[in-house]
Amino acid sequence: MNIHEYQAKRLLHSFGAPIANGVAVYSVEQAEEWAKTLPGPLYVVKSQIHAGGRGKGKFKELGPDAKGGVRLARSVEEVVANAREMLGNTLVTKQTGPAGKQVNRLYIEDGADIERELYLSILIDRAKGRPAFVVSTEGGMDIEGVAHDTPEKIITVSIDPEKGVTAEDTARINDVYGLSGEARADGETLFPILYKAFIEKDMSLLEVNPLIVMKDGRLRVLDAKVSFDGNALFRHPDVVELRDTTEEDAKEIEASKYDLAYVALDGNIGCMVNGAGLAMATMDIIKLYGAEPANFLDVGGGASKEKVTAAFKIITADPAVKGILINIFGGIMKCDIIAEGVIAAVKEVGLKVPLVVRLEGTNAELGKKIINESGLNVVSADDLDDAAQKIVAAVKGN
Ligand code: GDP
Ligand code: MG
Repeated sequence: MNIHEYQAKRLLHSFGAPIANGVAVYSVEQAEEWAKTLPGPLYVVKSQIHAGGRGKGKFKELGPDAKGGVRLARSVEEVVANAREMLGNTLVTKQTGPAGKQVNRLYIEDGADIERELYLSILIDRAKGRPAFVVSTEGGMDIEGVAHDTPEKIITVSIDPEKGVTAEDTARINDVYGLSGEARADGETLFPILYKAFIEKDMSLLEVNPLIVMKDGRLRVLDAKVSFDGNALFRHPDVVELRDTTEEDAKEIEASKYDLAYVALDGNIGCMVNGAGLAMATMDIIKLYGAEPANFLDVGGGASKEKVTAAFKIITADPAVKGILINIFGGIMKCDIIAEGVIAAVKEVGLKVPLVVRLEGTNAELGKKIINESGLNVVSADDLDDAAQKIVAAVKGN
């Protein structure tokens, strides 16, 4: 689960991280009201969407010459003018995809005088099985470019989870940044604080880009991106409250109501599979035959007819879906239950695209019989290979 920048900064601040004074607003009037309470002379008006790259982003409605999604303002009037331009419009960044995201909230912040922009993130290093800081002196707006062109400028500092962040770890990070004086002392306090927040809140990613050294020599968290491990959310009702469902895929929200493991993707073949491993294999084989899956969907073991119906509806509601592949290996999940769920869903929502079904395992024969006698226009397949070829061919129109 992701949250907005301002929520992430507030959360980090509650652990003691230094951030600027700021407030989230939903209207031009609120922007004006709150900007007046800030000292000036520099203000920042920041689009709050669940995507990075806002600074270099472009508003669809404003044309290529307009400023991006993070803007500096030098007066309350400029804050107001920028807020008016940004609110309600669609920001397209490297991370939003071409459709962009509508800006419904702005964060109005006291502007900082920046000396240097650094990069810091904390994540789980899966190879080492440990948390790690990823740090670079090249912070700011294009860390992906740095990773691509000069990977040696990105340094990983692995943390021993038994010890937490040690004095050696903070010294190492401070050395990478080349910090001294007050900034170095700030680092000694800040790095363990960020680590504590990462661990206590079960984050899967904490990214501060940039972490800034200000002209007065102090450190500040200028931008923050936080993702939480969805499997640990039950431990953090305070985090769940920060959820902004308008930022999430509507299909994924619907799926989560039925406890379906569903991830929307960019392709055009909708998949309904049981078991995460089989779902991954199904996506792979669709790609192998030259098409792209529209989603990952694991209906799970022992799914009810209602769950299968819900899953099928979510797939067919996606206008990008040009064909559906159902691939079930019945174990605990019985093939006849899948067949009944599919038929119930088709009766409700209709079937406008080709459907290929491969049923194997428990009650496979009964499942096939139910589908064959339903009068639905279904192509049955013998095995996964056959099924993938058939659905790819159907979608490509041959
Ligand atoms: P992102 O583009 O989505 O990563 O948004 P950021 O919050 O990282 O802001 C983008 C850039 O705007 C930063 O890298 C800074 O260069 C600039 N910026 C943001 N806030 C301030 C500020 O308070 N003062 C100054 N001078 N620049 C800022
Ligand atoms: Mg940033």
